[in-house]
Amino acid sequence: MLDSYPKDGDIGEIYLTEAEIQARVSELGQQIANDLAGEVPLLITILKGSVLFAADLMRAIPGAVEIDFMAVSSYGTETKSSGIVKIVKDLDESIAGRHVILIEDIVDSGLTMTYLLNLLGNREPASIRACSLLVREGQQAAGVKVDYIGFEIPPAFVVGYGLDYAQQFRNLPYIGVYTGPGSGAEH
Ligand code: 5GP
Repeated sequence: MLDSYPKDGDIGEIYLTEAEIQARVSELGQQIANDLAGEVPLLITILKGSVLFAADLMRAIPGAVEIDFMAVSSYGTETKSSGIVKIVKDLDESIAGRHVILIEDIVDSGLTMTYLLNLLGNREPASIRACSLLVREGQQAAGVKVDYIGFEIPPAFVVGYGLDYAQQFRNLPYIGVYTGPGSGAEH
Protein backbone atom coordinates (compact mmCIF):
# COMPACT_ATOMS: atom_id res chain seq x y z
CA MET A 1 0.00 0.00 0.00
CA LEU A 2 1.16 3.55 -0.69
CA ASP A 3 2.27 5.62 2.27
CA SER A 4 0.04 8.61 2.93
CA TYR A 5 1.34 11.87 1.52
CA PRO A 6 1.90 14.28 3.07
CA LYS A 7 2.54 12.32 6.26
CA ASP A 8 0.51 13.08 9.38
CA GLY A 9 2.14 16.03 11.11
CA ASP A 10 4.05 17.33 8.09
CA ILE A 11 1.56 20.11 7.36
CA GLY A 12 -0.01 22.28 10.06
CA GLU A 13 -2.41 25.10 9.32
CA ILE A 14 -3.61 25.40 5.72
CA TYR A 15 -3.23 29.07 4.83
CA LEU A 16 -4.63 28.93 1.32
CA THR A 17 -6.87 26.32 -0.24
CA GLU A 18 -6.65 25.27 -3.86
CA ALA A 19 -9.88 27.17 -4.64
CA GLU A 20 -8.62 30.37 -3.00
CA ILE A 21 -5.34 30.20 -4.92
CA GLN A 22 -7.01 29.52 -8.25
CA ALA A 23 -9.53 32.34 -7.81
CA ARG A 24 -6.79 34.85 -7.01
CA VAL A 25 -4.55 33.69 -9.87
CA SER A 26 -7.46 34.25 -12.28
CA GLU A 27 -7.85 37.81 -11.00
CA LEU A 28 -4.13 38.50 -11.36
CA GLY A 29 -4.11 37.18 -14.93
CA GLN A 30 -6.99 39.44 -15.85
CA GLN A 31 -5.33 42.43 -14.19
CA ILE A 32 -2.05 41.84 -16.04
CA ALA A 33 -3.93 41.48 -19.35
CA ASN A 34 -5.75 44.79 -18.71
CA ASP A 35 -2.57 46.64 -17.70
CA LEU A 36 -0.66 45.38 -20.73
CA ALA A 37 -3.48 45.48 -23.29
CA GLY A 38 -2.04 45.43 -26.81
CA GLU A 39 1.35 44.13 -25.66
CA VAL A 40 2.70 40.59 -25.34
CA PRO A 41 3.88 40.22 -21.75
CA LEU A 42 6.97 38.11 -21.10
CA LEU A 43 6.65 36.16 -17.85
CA ILE A 44 10.07 35.56 -16.37
CA THR A 45 9.76 32.65 -14.03
CA ILE A 46 12.25 31.88 -11.31
CA LEU A 47 12.83 28.14 -11.01
CA LYS A 48 11.70 26.07 -9.31
CA GLY A 49 9.21 27.48 -6.81
CA SER A 50 7.32 29.75 -9.23
CA VAL A 51 6.63 27.12 -11.86
CA LEU A 52 3.12 26.10 -10.76
CA PHE A 53 2.08 29.72 -10.24
CA ALA A 54 3.45 30.80 -13.63
CA ALA A 55 1.77 27.91 -15.44
CA ASP A 56 -1.62 28.83 -13.99
CA LEU A 57 -1.09 32.59 -14.34
CA MET A 58 -0.18 32.19 -18.00
CA ARG A 59 -3.45 30.36 -18.64
CA ALA A 60 -5.36 33.11 -16.80
CA ILE A 61 -4.11 35.75 -19.28
CA PRO A 62 -6.66 35.86 -22.10
CA GLY A 63 -4.28 36.83 -24.91
CA ALA A 64 -0.80 36.37 -26.28
CA VAL A 65 1.84 35.83 -23.60
CA GLU A 66 5.35 34.38 -23.55
CA ILE A 67 7.32 32.66 -20.81
CA ASP A 68 11.02 32.25 -20.07
CA PHE A 69 12.88 30.73 -17.15
CA MET A 70 15.79 31.62 -14.96
CA ALA A 71 17.38 29.50 -12.25
CA VAL A 72 19.16 31.22 -9.41
CA SER A 73 20.78 30.09 -6.23
CA SER A 74 20.86 32.31 -3.22
CA TYR A 75 23.89 32.29 -0.97
CA GLY A 76 21.69 32.04 2.10
CA THR A 77 20.78 29.20 4.38
CA GLU A 78 17.87 26.89 3.63
CA THR A 79 15.32 29.34 5.06
CA LYS A 80 16.99 32.77 4.91
CA SER A 81 18.31 34.52 1.83
CA SER A 82 21.35 36.78 1.71
CA GLY A 83 20.33 38.81 -1.33
CA ILE A 84 23.42 37.69 -3.20
CA VAL A 85 22.13 35.65 -6.08
CA LYS A 86 24.05 33.52 -8.53
CA ILE A 87 22.50 32.85 -11.95
CA VAL A 88 22.50 29.12 -12.54
CA LYS A 89 20.48 29.27 -15.77
CA ASP A 90 19.98 32.51 -17.66
CA LEU A 91 17.09 33.43 -19.95
CA ASP A 92 16.96 32.00 -23.47
CA GLU A 93 15.98 35.27 -25.16
CA SER A 94 16.88 38.95 -24.93
CA ILE A 95 14.39 41.07 -22.99
CA ALA A 96 15.33 44.35 -24.71
CA GLY A 97 12.16 46.23 -25.62
CA ARG A 98 9.92 43.64 -23.93
CA HIS A 99 7.26 44.16 -21.27
CA VAL A 100 8.60 41.93 -18.55
CA ILE A 101 6.81 40.53 -15.53
CA LEU A 102 9.10 38.89 -13.00
CA ILE A 103 7.27 36.02 -11.32
CA GLU A 104 8.23 34.93 -7.82
CA ASP A 105 6.71 32.42 -5.44
CA ILE A 106 7.35 34.36 -2.23
CA VAL A 107 8.92 37.67 -1.29
CA ASP A 108 10.24 37.41 2.23
CA SER A 109 12.99 39.95 2.95
CA GLY A 110 12.68 41.15 -0.66
CA LEU A 111 16.42 40.79 -1.25
CA THR A 112 16.10 38.21 -4.03
CA MET A 113 13.44 40.21 -5.87
CA THR A 114 15.40 43.47 -5.54
CA TYR A 115 18.53 41.84 -6.93
CA LEU A 116 16.69 40.31 -9.90
CA LEU A 117 14.78 43.52 -10.71
CA ASN A 118 18.07 45.42 -10.87
CA LEU A 119 19.72 42.76 -12.96
CA LEU A 120 16.86 42.55 -15.49
CA GLY A 121 16.27 46.30 -15.42
CA ASN A 122 19.78 46.75 -16.83
CA ARG A 123 18.90 44.69 -19.91
CA GLU A 124 16.73 47.48 -21.38
CA PRO A 125 13.21 46.04 -21.16
CA ALA A 126 10.40 48.39 -22.25
CA SER A 127 8.92 47.92 -18.78
CA ILE A 128 9.40 45.66 -15.81
CA ARG A 129 6.85 44.69 -13.19
CA ALA A 130 7.10 42.39 -10.19
CA CYS A 131 4.54 39.71 -9.39
CA SER A 132 4.65 37.44 -6.35
CA LEU A 133 2.10 34.87 -5.28
CA LEU A 134 2.99 35.47 -1.63
CA VAL A 135 4.43 38.39 0.28
CA ARG A 136 5.44 38.11 3.91
CA GLU A 137 3.27 40.34 6.09
CA GLY A 138 5.09 43.36 7.54
CA GLN A 139 8.32 42.35 5.80
CA GLN A 140 9.88 43.83 2.71
CA ALA A 141 12.91 45.18 4.52
CA ALA A 142 14.52 45.73 1.14
CA GLY A 143 11.67 48.11 0.24
CA VAL A 144 10.86 46.31 -3.00
CA LYS A 145 7.66 47.35 -4.78
CA VAL A 146 5.66 44.31 -5.83
CA ASP A 147 3.11 45.35 -8.48
CA TYR A 148 1.00 42.20 -8.32
CA ILE A 149 0.56 40.40 -5.00
CA GLY A 150 -1.44 37.20 -4.63
CA PHE A 151 -1.67 37.05 -0.84
CA GLU A 152 0.06 38.35 2.26
CA ILE A 153 1.00 35.60 4.69
CA PRO A 154 2.17 35.46 8.31
CA PRO A 155 5.75 34.57 9.27
CA ALA A 156 5.82 30.77 9.16
CA PHE A 157 7.65 28.54 6.70
CA VAL A 158 5.11 27.42 4.11
CA VAL A 159 5.07 24.69 1.47
CA GLY A 160 2.85 23.62 -1.40
CA TYR A 161 1.85 24.98 -4.81
CA GLY A 162 5.47 25.09 -5.94
CA LEU A 163 7.06 25.88 -2.58
CA ASP A 164 9.25 23.16 -1.09
CA TYR A 165 10.94 21.92 2.00
CA ALA A 166 14.06 19.97 0.90
CA GLN A 167 12.50 19.67 -2.61
CA GLN A 168 9.33 18.03 -1.32
CA PHE A 169 5.68 19.19 -1.21
CA ARG A 170 5.81 21.32 -4.36
CA ASN A 171 2.94 19.27 -5.82
CA LEU A 172 0.43 20.00 -3.06
CA PRO A 173 -2.40 22.07 -4.58
CA TYR A 174 -2.74 24.16 -1.39
CA ILE A 175 -0.31 26.18 0.77
CA GLY A 176 0.24 25.22 4.39
CA VAL A 177 2.72 25.57 7.22
CA TYR A 178 5.52 22.98 7.22
CA THR A 179 5.60 21.27 10.63
CA GLY A 180 7.51 18.09 9.74
CA PRO A 181 11.04 16.91 10.59
CA GLY A 182 13.55 19.78 10.70
CA SER A 183 10.88 22.46 11.11
CA GLY A 184 11.37 22.83 14.84
CA ALA A 185 7.65 22.18 15.29
CA GLU A 186 7.79 18.40 15.71
CA HIS A 187 6.50 16.86 18.93
P1 5GP B 1 13.85 36.79 0.18
O1 5GP B 1 15.09 37.08 -0.63
O2 5GP B 1 12.65 37.63 -0.24
O3 5GP B 1 14.10 36.87 1.67
O4 5GP B 1 13.53 35.24 -0.03
C1 5GP B 1 12.81 34.76 -1.09
C2 5GP B 1 13.09 33.27 -1.29
O5 5GP B 1 13.22 32.57 -0.03
C3 5GP B 1 11.92 32.61 -1.99
O6 5GP B 1 12.05 32.66 -3.40
C4 5GP B 1 11.96 31.20 -1.44
O7 5GP B 1 12.85 30.42 -2.20
C5 5GP B 1 12.54 31.34 -0.04
N1 5GP B 1 11.47 31.38 1.01
C6 5GP B 1 11.18 32.41 1.84
N2 5GP B 1 10.17 32.09 2.67
C7 5GP B 1 9.79 30.82 2.36
C8 5GP B 1 8.76 29.93 2.87
O8 5GP B 1 7.96 30.22 3.78
N3 5GP B 1 8.69 28.70 2.27
C9 5GP B 1 9.52 28.31 1.25
N4 5GP B 1 9.34 27.08 0.77
N5 5GP B 1 10.49 29.12 0.76
C10 5GP B 1 10.63 30.37 1.30
